[in-house]
Amino acid sequence: MSRLQDKVVIVTGAARGQGAAEARLLVAEGARVVLTDVREEEGRAVAAGLGGGAAVFVRHDVTSPEDWGAAVARALGSFGRIDGLVNNAALWRTAPVESETYDNFELLLRVNLLGPFLGIQAVLPALREAGGGSIVNVSSTAGLVGIAGHAAYGSSKFGLRGLTRSSALDLAPYGVRVNSVHPGAVDTPMTAAVAGRDWSHVPLGRMGRPEEVGELVAFLLSDASSYVTGAAFTVDGGLTA
Ligand code: NAD
Repeated sequence: MSRLQDKVVIVTGAARGQGAAEARLLVAEGARVVLTDVREEEGRAVAAGLGGGAAVFVRHDVTSPEDWGAAVARALGSFGRIDGLVNNAALWRTAPVESETYDNFELLLRVNLLGPFLGIQAVLPALREAGGGSIVNVSSTAGLVGIAGHAAYGSSKFGLRGLTRSSALDLAPYGVRVNSVHPGAVDTPMTAAVAGRDWSHVPLGRMGRPEEVGELVAFLLSDASSYVTGAAFTVDGGLTA
C-alpha cells in the first residue's frame, strides 16, 4: 500500500539533508512533491533524481511571502491541489546567550519561525479547498528542552512548537492537522561539523539517519494519523526520554 498515493506535498529545505530524504520517501509512498530551497542547483538535482513527473523544484526563501505565493502557485499549477506542507527549512547556529548577536537571533527567528508561519498562511486556502490536510513543523529537541548555546535556535524551535499548538486549534475546524517533529542529532550537512563526536550519551548510541525522521513525517502526512493534531513527536534515539 502506498501511504501517500496522490497526495501533493510541499517540502521546504529539500535540497539536502532531511528535506531531501523526506521528498524521496514521500515520492516512494505515492506522493507528488514540490521541493523548495534557496540552494537552487542542489534542489533541482534532487528533484530531477526523483524523475517521473512526481517532483518539481522551486527556488524559495521561506522568509519571503512572495516566494511562498510562487511555491503555492507552482504546486497548484503542476499538480492541481495541495494536501500537505513540511516546514523543514532552518538554520542552525550556536552561541552562548551572553555573546549571541541581534542579527543572528533575528535571522534564526525569521527563517525557523516566521518562515513556517508564512507557510501555514500560504497553503491554507489550498488545504481548505482540498477538504483538509496535514502540516508538519520540523522543530528539534532544542524546542523541548534547554540546550547550552542554543538561545537563538532553541527560541525559534520552542516558538515553532507554540505555533504548532495554536495553529492546530485554529485549523481543526477545517480538517487541517498541525503537528511538530522534534529530531535529536541527525546526520545531515547541518551537523557535519559534529558528526564525528561520541554519541554514546544517546540511549540508542548513535546519530539518527534522515530517513528515520522521514518515516515519522510520512506517517503524519498520511491518513494513518487522521486523529493526530497539536502533538509533538520526538525522534531522538531516546535523548530526551
Ligand atoms: P540541512 O542544513 O542539511 O538542510 C536544511 C535546508 O534548509 C538546506 O538545504 C538550506 O539551504 C535550507 N534553508 C535554509 N534557509 C532557508 C531559507 N531561508 N529558505 C529556504 N530554505 C532554506 O539541515 P537538516 O539537518 O536536514 O535539518 C532539517 C530540519 O531538521 C531543520 O528544521 C533543522 O532545524 C531540524 N533539525 C535537525 C537536526 C539535525 O541534527 N540535523 C536536529 C534537530 C532538528
